[in-house]
Amino acid sequence: MITQEQVDLIRNDPVAKGSLLIGGDWVSSRDGATLDVESPINGHALTTIADAGAADVDLAVTSARAAFDSGVWSRAAPLHRKKVLNRIADLIERDQVDLAVLGSRDNGTEIAFSYNAEPGSAAATFRYYAEAIDKMYGQIAPTSEDVLALVHREAIGVVGAIVPWNFPLMIGAWKLAAALSVGNSVVLKPAETASLTLLKLAAICLEAGLPEGVLNVVTGQGGKSGEALGLHMDVDVLTFTGSGGVGRRLLEYSAASNLKRVYLELGGKSPNIVFSDAADLDAAAMVSCLGIFRNSGQVCVSGSRLLVQESIQAAFVEKLVACAQGLKLGDPLDLTTQMGAVNSAAQLSKNLAYAAGAVADGADLRTGGAQTNAKSGGYYMAPTIFDNVAPSSRLACDEVFGPILSVIPFKNEEDAVRIANSTEFGLASAVWTADLSKAHRMVRQIRAGVVHVNTYGGADLTVPLGGHGQSGNGYDRSLHALDKFTNLKSAWIKL
Ligand code: ADP
Repeated sequence: MITQEQVDLIRNDPVAKGSLLIGGDWVSSRDGATLDVESPINGHALTTIADAGAADVDLAVTSARAAFDSGVWSRAAPLHRKKVLNRIADLIERDQVDLAVLGSRDNGTEIAFSYNAEPGSAAATFRYYAEAIDKMYGQIAPTSEDVLALVHREAIGVVGAIVPWNFPLMIGAWKLAAALSVGNSVVLKPAETASLTLLKLAAICLEAGLPEGVLNVVTGQGGKSGEALGLHMDVDVLTFTGSGGVGRRLLEYSAASNLKRVYLELGGKSPNIVFSDAADLDAAAMVSCLGIFRNSGQVCVSGSRLLVQESIQAAFVEKLVACAQGLKLGDPLDLTTQMGAVNSAAQLSKNLAYAAGAVADGADLRTGGAQTNAKSGGYYMAPTIFDNVAPSSRLACDEVFGPILSVIPFKNEEDAVRIANSTEFGLASAVWTADLSKAHRMVRQIRAGVVHVNTYGGADLTVPLGGHGQSGNGYDRSLHALDKFTNLKSAWIKL
């Protein structure tokens, strides 16, 4: 548990300047370029980070390759790798309060949520993959008697991990822990507006005994260091979470360079479907509200399209509006806050433009729609609900990544499936109904990586997360994630 006293003690601590981690050394970018980091809580300057360029990325990849080839990690005994990953988890837990406060200052997420969702889940992720290391076996293929065919699973080499700003530690840990557990080296590229906790995590990795060069961190602009990583001829795999636009670029970089594997976890426009026979409509409204407004809607799996059966539309929207208006919005470092700051001024402007566009398109604005708490100097948007949103409108189709809920009525099951699947995305979804058969039919018909039933959100490391359609490919979490970071190799032995 975290207490308000612990938060208040360090909430204004100066934040050290961020450097690049290359070959175990903390260094400036070669050309000295830096980026200013401000806090979305109040718009105040927090620190500066290095703005890496192609030369820095090249050094980072070279050091990752050298570490991989040396075998210091890639060929280390599984028990040793397990020990180091477990130590990383221990140290994340030791520093959980510091990481949570730093993260909320950097990206604006409400700390009551991020304390577990960010450092808490990062520690659990390192532990999960640490435990997996010495429990996985190769295979013996069922060949004819005169042959012994073995199937080995090998680390691939150098992994480039490009991560977003909404949950940098959680998502960064999914990629790092899985890639490192099987022996890869990694070059990590955090998002411009959320690098600080990942730099601290990198320091923790060194402290825990991860050999120099196995993890390298290049901070800075996506168009510089991210592009250089994507185009590098000696990166074997890219693992990415972020927007579809950048995902497309990564595929182009791969095609233009060494055909590196590219795994994309992209956006969503997830349908949250409420049938009139749902057992508890009050609970459905509350959970649906948190399912879109938590972290100011900056969640790739957020339930941003609420499909409600026509017969209960009016009453259910009333409940949603009451829940939204009851949420406590404000300082992310106040433990009672349920909705913190939007990550950046640019993201806030984008959200407000979507709200204005929806009004112009004729959707009914039921609550919110505007900036709030402006006197703080930070970036806050009131939880926003639009009713009767046309399924083909921009608000219903684009991933906004903000606290805006689109309510869309439907008539029956068939109608609900049609509207739910009328999107290029396929990440998450939910169905609220007391009819078990209907729930199972919906699970089969909805195109998405996950279908929640009678809840929204909730996940576990044991369960894979990945998108269908233009929400991406490949899986984070669970043992399935290891497929991204390993090659199969067979040995065919004539007896
Ligand atoms: P968002 O639109 O939500 O900010 P992005 O997809 O732009 O998400 O960013 C996710 C990550 O991709 C960040 O680390 C960002 O720096 C990086 N990125 C942005 N542009 C590029 C690019 N052209 N090439 C590689 N990485 C990029």
